[in-house]
Amino acid sequence: MIGKTREYPKEIMILEAIVRRFPPDDFRKADFEKKLYRKRAGYKGEKTLDYFLEQIDHSNMVILHDLRIPINSTHFQIDTLIITPHFLLIIDSKNLAGTLIFLPEFNQLIRIQNEIEEVFPDPILQTKIQASQLRAFLEKHHLTPPPIEYLVAISNTQALIKNPTNDKEVSYRVFRSANVTFKIPPFYNKHPQSLLSKTEMKKISKQLVKAHVPLVPDPKSMNLPFDNMAKGVQCPACEAFGMDYHQGKWTCKGCGHKAAAAHLQALRDYFLLYGPSITNKQFRDYMKLESTSTAKRLLACMDLTSLGTNKGRTYSPGKNFFD
Ligand SMILES: [Zn+2]
Repeated sequence: MIGKTREYPKEIMILEAIVRRFPPDDFRKADFEKKLYRKRAGYKGEKTLDYFLEQIDHSNMVILHDLRIPINSTHFQIDTLIITPHFLLIIDSKNLAGTLIFLPEFNQLIRIQNEIEEVFPDPILQTKIQASQLRAFLEKHHLTPPPIEYLVAISNTQALIKNPTNDKEVSYRVFRSANVTFKIPPFYNKHPQSLLSKTEMKKISKQLVKAHVPLVPDPKSMNLPFDNMAKGVQCPACEAFGMDYHQGKWTCKGCGHKAAAAHLQALRDYFLLYGPSITNKQFRDYMKLESTSTAKRLLACMDLTSLGTNKGRTYSPGKNFFD
């Protein structure tokens, strides 16, 4: 069973809103674009592994996606955790392209792409650390964990994986996502003893889901050029900002495109960048709307929760507003 699904990360949504509305002539835009590209690639790699995991029989396991668990004064993150009666298995997915050279002697991963050589932290070591943090967390909550195994999935089919020192750990722990079906059964042979009952497996799962804290970066701490960031409703056709609202539709001044619900994305961006609450006046300012009653009508038609009355009323995203 799936104990926790993978959701589209808030961190990526925030980066998308930043890049969409960033002043085009500000040199820092490229940094945010690069970061967004990297985060999207990572997410895509995780989804690729999910796809292959869905094809295995998981009636006797609990699969938890995307965990971020507080420990001491920090957090540890696990892309995928599989709870079986015999062992726990952490799978970290990497979606790097290019030639990936594992050099475990100094815990290095070298990536060569377009003749550029980059050093990355050793993902085997990273995953091993996650395993010890997971063990510490469970023990702290009086749950006795079975052996914890860990793997590194390479999701990018274009990647060329190299293990020049023929290191056994590398060949044992690193694999291509498509191979996950064949990677898991050997762990049952390695750990033949069934140690957890269904109830105990669920208990571990529950404890982790309860402790999970999603990563929501604060745009206020990013030194963003808020005064120069684009406001208004973006045209879905030509991407220009500042559509006009007439007779129940948004119309683009530039290309003439008409869209009824284009304010939805603008309001999402507002919440992501400025915080989870908006008044009728702030909504009108941001959307460039004149009429209070039009704003009220638009706000009433979205999945929002409201608090207060009259001018003091604020609207916040409802449960499924970002879906
Ligand atoms: Zn347009």
